[in-house]
Amino acid sequence: TLGVSIKESCMNHYAVFGHPVSHSLSPRIHAAFGRQLGISLDYTTIEATPDAFPQALDAFVTAGGKGANVTLPLKEAAFALCASTSERAQRAGAVNTLIRNDGQWRGDNTDGIGLVRDLTGRLSLDLRGRRALLLGAGGSARGVAPALLDAGVSELIIVNRTAERADALADALGDPQRAHSRYWDDAGAEGDYALIVNATSASRDGTTEFTLPFQLANSRTLAVDLNYGEAAIPFLAWARAANCRDVVDGLGMLVEQAAASFELWHGVRPDTAPVYATLRDKDAALVTAD
Ligand code: NDP
Repeated sequence: TLGVSIKESCMNHYAVFGHPVSHSLSPRIHAAFGRQLGISLDYTTIEATPDAFPQALDAFVTAGGKGANVTLPLKEAAFALCASTSERAQRAGAVNTLIRNDGQWRGDNTDGIGLVRDLTGRLSLDLRGRRALLLGAGGSARGVAPALLDAGVSELIIVNRTAERADALADALGDPQRAHSRYWDDAGAEGDYALIVNATSASRDGTTEFTLPFQLANSRTLAVDLNYGEAAIPFLAWARAANCRDVVDGLGMLVEQAAASFELWHGVRPDTAPVYATLRDKDAALVTAD
């Protein structure tokens, strides 16, 4: 009953912090994983600007918070306030998963493994040897960049609206043979990328069009948007117009990164397939609604 679930929820309190965060599907995903595995948990969204984030996190601990996800624009801030971090979080310089451990936060990053599991596992796509273009250098770009290198891309070119952040990410990756930053115009001039990953939040500002040069892609290109739902429409429309062979949104990654976070907190790995299928049905309904 409702009464029982609220009582039990006090013992297992989780949340996703972000700004904005009300759009997040994470509460639904974690609730579904919990039901699947018979684990009672309470997972909510908590709106926090970067300035308010540390205090909001303290209040969450006081209320019994045991673990949290962190989304835009807080992933680098989350990294900075952890007492310890995993190796993959260190390589990213960004944290999307907080685990309460002995009264302190441990930070991890499941974005990269989430993306690679979706592409290579669910979709059976091979990333090895692909020349890759990463659009964006924010918290999620930092999470996926090391995982793309580990998955065997031949080169990783990073471009970002604020060029210095792309330079900093390329430097942090520590793989000067493969990872480079470029200015937008130079990346466009090179063209013919076999993998293009959109890790920007540009379309969330209400931008309805992606105006990238078509020569970035060709008919063998895999185009991936970390965004999903309506926020994925502009980039995926560009990718289709550019004749990309495979066009993938971020819904699969979302479920996979959630499963990896869930495993860190609860020690068991949920089956992602049914949860993904349910969300995909709902997403199709949303995208075709009007
Ligand atoms: P951040 O706020 O950390 O970074 C935002 C990035 O987008 C920066 O590179 C920023 O550039 C760029 N950007 C923002 N607005 C524009 C614009 N108008 N034109 C060009 N570039 C722009 O966010 P995150 O990295 O955490 O998230 C990025 C997106 O990825 C979000 O929309 C998020 O929902 C999605 N995401 C999806 C996940 C999934 O599981 N599917 C997981 C993680 C993220 P600049 O540095 O110049 O500000």
